[in-house]
Amino acid sequence: MPRGKMSAAIMDKPLSIAVQQVDIPVPKEDEALVKVYCIGVCGSDVHYYEHGKIGRYVVKEPIVLGHELAGEVVEVGKNVTNVAVGDRVAVEPGVACGHCDYCRSGRYNLCPDVVFLATPPVNGAWQEYIAMPSDYLFKLPDTMSFEEGALLEPLSVGFHALQRGHAKPFDRLLITGLGPIGLLAGQAAKLFGITEIYGTDVVPFRRELALEMGFTAALDPANENVGERLAELTGGTGITLVVESSGNARAMADTIRLVRRGGRIVFVGLPAEGAVPMDMGQLIDGEIDAYGVFRYANTYPAAIQALRGSGADIGKIITHRFPLSDIREAVETARTQKDTSIKVMIYPNSP
Ligand SMILES: [Zn+2]
Ligand SMILES: [Zn+2]
Repeated sequence: MPRGKMSAAIMDKPLSIAVQQVDIPVPKEDEALVKVYCIGVCGSDVHYYEHGKIGRYVVKEPIVLGHELAGEVVEVGKNVTNVAVGDRVAVEPGVACGHCDYCRSGRYNLCPDVVFLATPPVNGAWQEYIAMPSDYLFKLPDTMSFEEGALLEPLSVGFHALQRGHAKPFDRLLITGLGPIGLLAGQAAKLFGITEIYGTDVVPFRRELALEMGFTAALDPANENVGERLAELTGGTGITLVVESSGNARAMADTIRLVRRGGRIVFVGLPAEGAVPMDMGQLIDGEIDAYGVFRYANTYPAAIQALRGSGADIGKIITHRFPLSDIREAVETARTQKDTSIKVMIYPNSP
């Protein structure tokens, strides 16, 4: 059992982050201590780093960011039975209360008391070790890397979006916005048996990556008539399901005219402006179903089961890799190179 000090990346104010030495956490009775091998930089981490807040969540005290992680169990509390020392695990970063209506009905992502890593004032895991309730640890099959284990977090968002949208193998899917979430939603779609997957993004690099990752076509909404192109590409049958992951107000409003009558739209990307004008007449007239998505629930075991042996290569979205000591460069890469970086990964311990 490791004791003493460890390295942790501490952000004390916007645009200021450095590795410092802090105490290695001691796991409680129902917790396990995880040695963090791989952890992603998420858009939300970059936003906290740059602006010091997201909506009502404000960084007031120095904070450790990071919530997309996998590692190895190195110590367990005395009540822990589901994992053991030496297990390779993915960490689900949101710990719900377990008692409220939402938790009891399985929709624990809506729990008002959820404690989510790297959401102020809760610390995240850009550090060497983290203690987590063992219920939120999921064993990785030998065939899955720590990188894939860490990517289960953003993959879960896409997985949950498809579940919310009642995805079927015969859907013709459009994903708007090809950042990490959109690209991984495309991989999640394959796990649901969907074979016709279209994407839109204004950034050429992202469209190229989408094609490499098996999208049927990737369109440029700035220079193409997406509605016409999709009509051509689907032989006039139209899009049955849209996953909107850009958060762009225009793209969100456009989904209503890009989905066919009777189709479904799942909204994942959060708009900067809050209120977005929508053509509700067309939504009503076309009996279009619209769903919101907040994080995910119950996705880790399902996504691990679906991924193993699927041949889906979710690791393709990783564009940059840094040790924890280069934390500043890692976050700055994600912040300033949005057109060429998709997922930046941090490695607090070398394997
Ligand atoms: Zn994230
Ligand atoms: Zn709850």
